[in-house]
Amino acid sequence: MQKIIAVFFLLLAPHILKAQEPAKVLSSVFDEALTDRTEYNNLEYLCKHTKGRIAGSPAAEKAIEYTRQALISAGADTVWLQKVRVPHWVRGTEKCTVTSSVHGTKDLAITALGLSVGTNENELTSNVIEVHNFEELKTLGIQSIQGKIVFFNRPFDNKLINSFSAYGGAVNQRTTGPSEASEYGAIAVIVRSMTQSLDNFPHTGVTRYADSVNKIPAVAVSTLDAELLSQWLKTDPSLTLHLVSSCRNYPDTLSYNVIGEVYGSLKPHEYITVGGHLDAWDIAEGAIDDGGGCVQAIEMIRIYKKLGIKPKRTMRAVMFMNEEMTGTGGKTYAEEAKRKGEVHYAALESDRGVMSPRGFGFEADGPKLEKLQTLASWFAPYNIRDFDKGGGGSDIAPLKALGALQIGYIPDSQRYFWYHHSANDTFEQVNIRELQMGSAAIASLIYLIDLFDL
Ligand SMILES: [Zn+2]
Repeated sequence: MQKIIAVFFLLLAPHILKAQEPAKVLSSVFDEALTDRTEYNNLEYLCKHTKGRIAGSPAAEKAIEYTRQALISAGADTVWLQKVRVPHWVRGTEKCTVTSSVHGTKDLAITALGLSVGTNENELTSNVIEVHNFEELKTLGIQSIQGKIVFFNRPFDNKLINSFSAYGGAVNQRTTGPSEASEYGAIAVIVRSMTQSLDNFPHTGVTRYADSVNKIPAVAVSTLDAELLSQWLKTDPSLTLHLVSSCRNYPDTLSYNVIGEVYGSLKPHEYITVGGHLDAWDIAEGAIDDGGGCVQAIEMIRIYKKLGIKPKRTMRAVMFMNEEMTGTGGKTYAEEAKRKGEVHYAALESDRGVMSPRGFGFEADGPKLEKLQTLASWFAPYNIRDFDKGGGGSDIAPLKALGALQIGYIPDSQRYFWYHHSANDTFEQVNIRELQMGSAAIASLIYLIDLFDL
C-alpha cells in the first residue's frame, strides 16, 4: 500500500511542482523589482534631463534617444524607432491679471491649454462671465456672452471615490469648453484646473476646437485663483481680466515611438504590448504622467532578461509619442501592426500614475473576464486585489480593432490629479517602492496571461 501511495505521489509530483512554478516566478519578479534601482534612475533621468518633453520638442527627441538606450541596456532582443507625425505647439509668454474697483488688482496663476491659439501678442481685456456647464452658456446666450471672457468653474465632484470619474465629470470644460463658448461669441476662455487640490499650480491639457468655430485663446487657472476670481465676481461682476498668451501652432513635424522586444519562444509572431507615453506637458517633468509608465514597460524587459523568463509570445515595451495632444503614436502603432498583418494578443497601458498598485482593469466580459479574475489569487501575497472590468488606455485603444485584449494598470487614484499636467508633476512625487511594486505587478500579470493563454 505504502508503495502504491509513493508511486502515486511520484506521478503527481511534477504537476504539483508545475502548479507552484508561477508562484515562484512571481516571487522572483517581485524580489528583482524591489531590489534594483535601474528603473528609478531611468525615471530620474527622464524627469531631470528631458523635462517638458511635449511631442515635437527638443526634450522629446532627447527622451526618445534615452529610452532607446535604456531598452538596449535592459537587454531587449531588438530596439527600434517608429516614425510618427505629431503636432508642433509651442507655449509663449502668458499673463493674466484681474482688476477690480472693489478688490484691487491681482495676477492669476494661469497656463495656456495645449493646441490653443494665443492672443497674437495683444492683450485681451474684457469682463468675465462665470459658468459651470454648457447648459448655462445656452441659457445666457449670445447677448450675455458676446465679447466676454468665459470662466468655466465647475470643480471635481469630491464625492466620487475614483478620481478618474471626478476628472471625467469635469474635463469637458477644458476639452470642448473653448469651442462651446466661442459659439456664443466669447473672446477667450479661462478654465478651472482639473484637480481636487486647492493650490496655485495651473494644470494644462489639450483643448480641441470644433472645425466650425472661431478659435479663441484658452488658459487654465489654478484652483485657488479660480476660487478667488469667483468670490470677486460675486461682489464685482464688472471686474476685468487682462490676458496675454503668445502660444503658437506650427506645421506638423516628425517624431517617434520607441519600441523594444523580447522574442517569443513558442509564438514569436504573436505580440503582447506593454506601454506608457513618452511625451509629457511642457510645464511638467512628467514623472507621474507618464514617465513612470514608460520606465515600468522597460523594467518588464529588464526583469524578464535578468531572470531568464522566456515568454511564449513576443513582448513589446512601447514608449508612445504624442498621447497628450492628438494620440498619433498609438494610432500609428496600430496602423503599422495592421499593415504588417501582426497578431496582437493583448496590450497593457500604464498611464494612471505610479502610486501603489491596486490591480488591473480588463476590457472583457462573461467567461473571459471570469478567467482573468482568477488571476487575482496569484497576487494576494502582494496585496493586489482589484481585477475588474475596466478600460485599457488611449494609446492601446486602436489595437482593439486587431483583437488585442485591453488591460489597464490600476494604481491608487487619490493623488494622481494633484500632479497631472502641472509643474507639480516632478520626480520627487514618486515613491520608489510604489513604482517598483507596480512594475513587478505588470511584469507578473503579463507573464501569467502569456503562460495560461488567457
Ligand atoms: Zn498620461
